[in-house]
Amino acid sequence: MSQHAHQQCINPDCQATFDIGRVLVACPDCGALLDILYDWDRLPVPAWSTFEQRWSTTGVNDDGRLDFSGVWRFRELLPFYRTADDIVTIGEGRTQLQDAHQVAAEIGLKRGQLHLQYEGLNPSGSFKDNGMAAAFTHARMVGATKVACASTGNTSAALALFAGLSGLSAIVFIGSGKIAYGKLSQALDYGATTIQIQGDFDACLRRVQQIAADVPDLGIYLMNSVNPFRLEGQKAIMYRVLQALEWQVPDWIVVPGGNLGNSSAFGKAFTELHQLGLIDRIPRLAIIQATGANPLYELHTEQGVRWNDGHWDSAKRDALYDRNIPANTVASAIEIGRPVNLPKALRALHVMDGIVRQVDDPTILEHKALVGRYGFGCEPASAASVAGTRLLIEQGVIDRDARVVCVLTGHQLKDPDATVKYHTGIDMKAAQDHAPVSDPAGRIANQPVRVDDDLASIVAALGGDPALVS
Ligand SMILES: *Cc1c(COP(=O)(O)O)cnc(C)c1O
Ligand SMILES: [Zn+2]
Repeated sequence: MSQHAHQQCINPDCQATFDIGRVLVACPDCGALLDILYDWDRLPVPAWSTFEQRWSTTGVNDDGRLDFSGVWRFRELLPFYRTADDIVTIGEGRTQLQDAHQVAAEIGLKRGQLHLQYEGLNPSGSFKDNGMAAAFTHARMVGATKVACASTGNTSAALALFAGLSGLSAIVFIGSGKIAYGKLSQALDYGATTIQIQGDFDACLRRVQQIAADVPDLGIYLMNSVNPFRLEGQKAIMYRVLQALEWQVPDWIVVPGGNLGNSSAFGKAFTELHQLGLIDRIPRLAIIQATGANPLYELHTEQGVRWNDGHWDSAKRDALYDRNIPANTVASAIEIGRPVNLPKALRALHVMDGIVRQVDDPTILEHKALVGRYGFGCEPASAASVAGTRLLIEQGVIDRDARVVCVLTGHQLKDPDATVKYHTGIDMKAAQDHAPVSDPAGRIANQPVRVDDDLASIVAALGGDPALVS
């Protein structure tokens, strides 16, 4: 395993460290999240120009394969792998930063100051591919054969695509009636075993964590963003933003917040770049949530919960979660009531002098249409970043001449139902709640397995022995 990387608990009162080759999704000592940390003093860190030169590579062999990837092009900034042979890539992260002057004019920013980081251009159509490239690399280092995730849709699409290409078997848990059709169609087409339980994302995540931890016989490697390697790959989104801006740091990064993996990864990316002397200042962060799924907004903005050197007020989180408020928003990718990366997001907000805002569904859909009108297109969750930027300009928090980067997290075709419904009033998604009208005719038809939200039933559906579950 890499000699200069280790896993470390983020809890300041614990800080336990673990070998990079262990499969962990939480600190075994205290249950907190883990970071991947590097011994930078003993590692070579190239100049920006090295990363830039790799961008033009088209090769599929040897180093060309790595240079072609928008994640591994920056491999010296996530050096947890042993050798290049470990690295998994499917050409993820060849995405672009677009100057969106028409959208800028609509939302009140000066011409040339609004940039959209268009992550919909990834192979599976969302930013999730960045993280999967890193997590699959780790999965391969440790010899995993089965990978699983809970998903609001895009994680499952990315996982299924990477698994299909790297010969691992994929299991995805999705909530009933909660997934956009584009994403469901991907998981099925890429051949994942798709477990559709009666419940929402948070229920799915609980189950898949249980399956990975408590039913070791199934031998499942967990790919949700509690997996710290995912976040290492997602740091690369910010490296690409910087490259497109010729290594000039923008004023604001605006990102939708669901499970808060992206915002956590961005905070870590900028912290490290600053430590390494590659940037001289850190941009501010705005995390935008949907009003119907706003736990971070509630805790950070309304209740004033802060990172506080790691001693953040978890009692306030527990009290909020005890209210069991169901997440409900048209932006299904951020329809999450209990974000697993909450502590890391609080840390990112601290490091990036960040703020959190919420926008309601009609506002999200209006801004999705706006992004679509001017040539990019995105799914509802992604448009929260643009809607949030307008709100922050109106509130006087973001200056009209500030340089702003909004992350467009997913492709427009991910969620055609939302687009069609916005433009026509026809609700295609309602069909998901009905039983199939006919048996599928395809020879390799891959139907979702509908299961109750019950551990023994899920284990049985996965071919395990339900008697092993107490
Ligand atoms: C996963 C996802 C999000 C939420 O990102 P987090 O890292 O979980 O906060 C937002 N938009 C899209 C399109 C996504 O797929
Ligand atoms: Zn710990």
